[in-house]
Amino acid sequence: MELACLDLEGVLVPEIWIAFAEETGIEALKATTRDIPDYDVLMKQRLRILDEHGLTLPQIQETISRLAPLEGAVEFVNWLRERFQVVILSDTFYEFSQPLMRQLGFPTLLCHKLEVDGQGRITGYTLRQRDPKRQSVRAFQLLNYRVIATGDSYNDTTMLTQAESGILFHAPDNVIQEFPQFPAVHTYEDLKKEFIKASVRDLTL
Ligand SMILES: [Mg+2]
Repeated sequence: MELACLDLEGVLVPEIWIAFAEETGIEALKATTRDIPDYDVLMKQRLRILDEHGLTLPQIQETISRLAPLEGAVEFVNWLRERFQVVILSDTFYEFSQPLMRQLGFPTLLCHKLEVDGQGRITGYTLRQRDPKRQSVRAFQLLNYRVIATGDSYNDTTMLTQAESGILFHAPDNVIQEFPQFPAVHTYEDLKKEFIKASVRDLTL
C-alpha cells in the first residue's frame, strides 16, 4: 500500500504569511521556514509582530478567505487521489486552513492549532508533536504504508528523508543544493512523473 504525503503551503497553496504580509505591508512577516528553519523561533517572531501591530486572527482569516490554490493544484490533487491515499502534512494551523482546504476538496490534513483569546488575539499555538511531518510518515510506515512525500522547504526535509521516496517541489535553490539526494521539480506535470517513478506500482496504465 502506498500513501502520498504532501506539504501544503508552497506546494498546493500560496504561503499564507507572505500573503498577509503583502496585504498589511509588514515586511518582517514575510519570513517563512525557508528563511528561519526553526519553526518555534519563526512562530514566536510572527506572534510578536502581530501583537506589535495589534493584528488579530479574524484579520488573517479575512486575507486567507480571498486566497486560491496555486494554478493546477486542484487538478493535481484530484489526479493523485485517484492513484494514492493522500494526506496533507502541514505546519499551518486548522484556524487558517479551512477556506483553502474547501477549494481542495478537504483532503485529510494533519497540522497545528492556535490559541486565541476572546478578542481574537493569537496568544500562542500548540504544535501537534515535535518533528510532526517525519513522525507522521513514521507512523504510516508502522501501518505498513510505503510513503512518497513532497515538499518545498526546510521543514519538509525530515519528512522527505523518512519517506521511502522524497521529492522537492517549488523548492528554492538553497534547499535544492543542500539536499541533492531528492529529485527537484517545478511543475505539477513533472511532479506527477516523479510520483509515477517513485511508486512500486505501474501507474501508467
Ligand atoms: Mg511549504
